[in-house]
Amino acid sequence: MEPYRIKVVEPIPITTREFRERRYAEAGYNQFNLTAEDVTIDLLSDSGTGALSAEQQAAGMRGDETYAGARSWFRFREVAEELTGYEHIFPVHQGRAAERILFSALLKPGQISVSNTHFDTTRANVELAGGVVRDLPSPAFADLDSDAPFKGDIDLVALEALLDGPEDVGLVLMTITNNGGGGQPVSMANLEAVGVLCRRYGVPFILDAARFAENAWLVTQREERFRGHSPREVARLAFRLADGCVLSLKKDGIVHIGGMLALQDQDLAKQCELLLIATEGFSTYGGLSGRDLDMCAQGLIEVTDPLYLRERAEATAYLADCAREAGVDSVRPAGVHAVYLNAGRLLPHIPPSRFTGHALASELYLAGGIRCAEVGSLYLGEIDPSGELITPAPFELVRLAIPRRVYTRSHLEYVAETLAGIAKDPGRVPGYRLTEVPPILRPFRCRLEQIKP
Ligand SMILES: *Cc1c(COP(=O)(O)O)cnc(C)c1O
Repeated sequence: MEPYRIKVVEPIPITTREFRERRYAEAGYNQFNLTAEDVTIDLLSDSGTGALSAEQQAAGMRGDETYAGARSWFRFREVAEELTGYEHIFPVHQGRAAERILFSALLKPGQISVSNTHFDTTRANVELAGGVVRDLPSPAFADLDSDAPFKGDIDLVALEALLDGPEDVGLVLMTITNNGGGGQPVSMANLEAVGVLCRRYGVPFILDAARFAENAWLVTQREERFRGHSPREVARLAFRLADGCVLSLKKDGIVHIGGMLALQDQDLAKQCELLLIATEGFSTYGGLSGRDLDMCAQGLIEVTDPLYLRERAEATAYLADCAREAGVDSVRPAGVHAVYLNAGRLLPHIPPSRFTGHALASELYLAGGIRCAEVGSLYLGEIDPSGELITPAPFELVRLAIPRRVYTRSHLEYVAETLAGIAKDPGRVPGYRLTEVPPILRPFRCRLEQIKP
């Protein structure tokens, strides 16, 4: 059960199918155009959508808004240093600001950033800095149904070959957990091996540690050597294997806004600090208020509570199990922050060119007012300017991201029941066609229409 009780509540909109049909048509069948008022259960993102604890609210009240050297900064730095061990800690307004600053300072034009999988803003910031991204996910990820414990690992053989070859690698970036790769965890053995390779080839090793606590939890559950260790111990060890991190505090900081860049190397840190001051704010607040810094510090303490992590992981696995019983498969084994539904398997009558994942996500909204994100050909496929699919994504998935401490098991049961209703007669679900295709950031701004069966 949840190791907390509810003290503040907020009503959620309960709507009719007729209302949702109208609103979704007005929204161009794109869930990013829906508003809070249109959505009953919002599983679009786990970023900045968590519930604050009473202690975080109290910490916020103690926030010190001094411009330079605020007390909040020292409290934040103490917690961040204890957790990561890195000497140079910089607060930023969110994860992507840390990415932009680090890559601008670190990457020379044409250099490669290699990763288990780059998150989408990470990829964009590597490219904006003139770098080139290379994803080397573990071959185990290709089998969605296998119960391999660490499908978020990097492919070490391919990584060594790349580092040993003629290409210029600027950094190795390990995303924990692997958000682009089905939310799957990365093993400590994999991180250690990456650390050895990075030192041998003299390449910086950076963690994209948005879900460092969830990764640490899964390590304590799935990696023999770390059974019985606390998630905080494992997280602290993981940070110490790398040379620094970029971190979105909107995930495992359990705050509504915040991020962090932390580094060991002094010269690199000095370069980053100047960029930080020029674009985010002075080094002791980095674009955050004192209030935010104090709430982040408290969140970074609470998030490694094993009772909290156990309940969160079990709730996600429970949703995946209920969906599976209802006939809807998802990427196995279940991760922590999200369930990735296998829409391609549920809706074989809808080809990728008619956006299978989007069709399932749309039906979840129309049937139950549940908002979520497609991770399939609409997002990752190659699409021509007229909206025709040229190359499909490898899988047609739908991500149900679970906000932290927000929904109860009965909310998740409602989601599972809605899925069960769809799975009873999947043949009725219609496909979609693009009517407006923006040249970049397609999922956010495209418009579609339904193809009536
Ligand atoms: C959310 C996220 C980011 C970007 O962080 P923001 O706080 O949204 O800017 C980077 N990497 C990963 C893995 C993320 O999940």
